[in-house]
Amino acid sequence: MRAHVIGNVAIDETISVSSMPEAGASIFGREETRDLGGKGANQAVVMARTGLPTALIAAVGEDFRAQTIREQLAPEPVEAKLIVLDGRSSDFSIIFTTPDGENAIVTTTDSAGSLTPDDAIAGLSRAVAGDLVVLQGNLAETTTRGLLAEAKRRGLVTAFNPSPLRPYFSDLWPLVDIAVLNRGEAQRLTGSSDVAAAERLQQSGVRHVVITLGGDGAILASRGDGIATIPAVATHAVDTTGAGDTFMAVALASAALRGIELDTRAVGHAACASALTVSRRGTRAAFPTVEELQAILAR
Ligand code: ATP
Repeated sequence: MRAHVIGNVAIDETISVSSMPEAGASIFGREETRDLGGKGANQAVVMARTGLPTALIAAVGEDFRAQTIREQLAPEPVEAKLIVLDGRSSDFSIIFTTPDGENAIVTTTDSAGSLTPDDAIAGLSRAVAGDLVVLQGNLAETTTRGLLAEAKRRGLVTAFNPSPLRPYFSDLWPLVDIAVLNRGEAQRLTGSSDVAAAERLQQSGVRHVVITLGGDGAILASRGDGIATIPAVATHAVDTTGAGDTFMAVALASAALRGIELDTRAVGHAACASALTVSRRGTRAAFPTVEELQAILAR
């Protein structure tokens, strides 16, 4: 089984601040890291580090950031299929982190939002029935819809992380096999919290729903198997950037590498991996290494 992650790739600039800036304020900050980021790239890099064959299909512009993106992807075990868009700028994120480990992120989506349905579907040329297609919320509506419909038509397993939230997500669920989202997203999408939110998404057609609850762990709701709560792994959190992406990638890869559907063991592996990510600063630099993931997946 292969994974095909279609999403955004960006350069993450992390700035530490003593507290989040208020509207109209000018405050001091310190540059912490400049790192590969973007939810699509994050998830693809972590999935590839688990040993699952993984391709990243993402758009970049023709600029200095695209070069940095290529250099940062080169040492990773992921197959990078970067689509260069004329006249667009590569995407980037500014991440503010505070001493208590909280973060706030602003992301540009000029490239990701310009990826056409045709270009994105062409990226799936080598996908075969049973492969995983992994999507997040950064692509244009027509591209996300077109990809999900095409994936279902070809018998691929669709995994969707509805982040950043968009209003049109609410009618995509019949095309989604696996949804992974955080507590706030679940609340805003369904109007319900935690277990009730998971049940609502299942009623809309999703086979497996994972809702992450930050330091409180995660819920897994699987059709026919009821609902399980998986605790977080206690750690000293210094920077939560990429926690959700690590979690989704490892949960999907753990099940895929064992040739089964999402189970509580996969979600337990995801909790261990994301505890490592939150204990370190940065994005790619904070993700578990190949060796760490091997040890986690053997548990
Ligand atoms: P982010 O947007 O910061 O990447 P998220 O909001 O998508 O994260 P969260 O629910 O905050 O996702 O976290 C995902 C997972 O990471 C949690 O289910 C948990 O396993 C782990 N995690 C997050 N915060 C902590 C913490 N303080 N201690 C241990 N594990 C944590």
